Amino acid sequence: MNIGLLGGTFDPVHRGHLALARAAQQRCNLGRVIFIPANVPPHKQKQSMASYFHRYAMVVLATSNEKQFVPSLLEAPEETIQSGKGKTAEPRANYTIDTVRQVKQTLKKSDQLFFLIGIDAFADIAKWHQAEALLKECDFIVASRPGYSLADVANALPERMRPRASVTKPFAKQALTGHLAISGASLHLLENLHENVSATSIRQAVASKKALTRYVEPSVAEYIKKMDLYRGR
Ligand code: ATP
Repeated sequence: MNIGLLGGTFDPVHRGHLALARAAQQRCNLGRVIFIPANVPPHKQKQSMASYFHRYAMVVLATSNEKQFVPSLLEAPEETIQSGKGKTAEPRANYTIDTVRQVKQTLKKSDQLFFLIGIDAFADIAKWHQAEALLKECDFIVASRPGYSLADVANALPERMRPRASVTKPFAKQALTGHLAISGASLHLLENLHENVSATSIRQAVASKKALTRYVEPSVAEYIKKMDLYRGR
């Protein structure tokens, strides 16, 4: 079976995430898409966010109507460890390479793993922990957002995997679509998903008391209201 893995902060999970999962599912014939909220996203450690438990609960709600979308607790907080002087140890960042390797250990030989990602996140991939090894670990499905081209994907690769400038120059005018196989990395490119929504815009919408049903599933909108999330942020 082809299996997709969608990691994120999901603060909150929204229609953009679901559109990404659906488009990837169709494109690469995914039999399952695993949604993995990060307890500590490495690139957002200084940012305040809703607790892991709220973010996970919203992922459960958002995926409940789709049989093939599965919420995962793989990056859940570890049990609190007390350090020597009674201080609580800082939780460790969740690195995607560790999660991908953990998931792979549970797969059958005939399964193939695909990591789903938006181009805005992929643009920073070279800074991710063990980026080169990660790109070799599984296929990537990269979704475009308005304004991005194939050159942005090629230039985002870690330096040693990046094609020469003479190769990528014509990419600047090419839409993000098709399949790119570079130095062992396999990238499936999805054109614009047209779900112009981000978690940031949703948190802002809550703070300014706007309706959320345009951006999130009704059950998630209800949960945000019930639990009083994102007010005053
Ligand atoms: P924030 O605004 O807080 O940064 P986000 O929704 O952009 O939130 P995440 O929840 O971490 O960020 O996103 C998880 C993954 O989903 C990332 O790979 C991101 O690029 C992708 N993604 C987020 N929004 C969209 C969208 N509207 N269309 C396609 N992909 C998206």
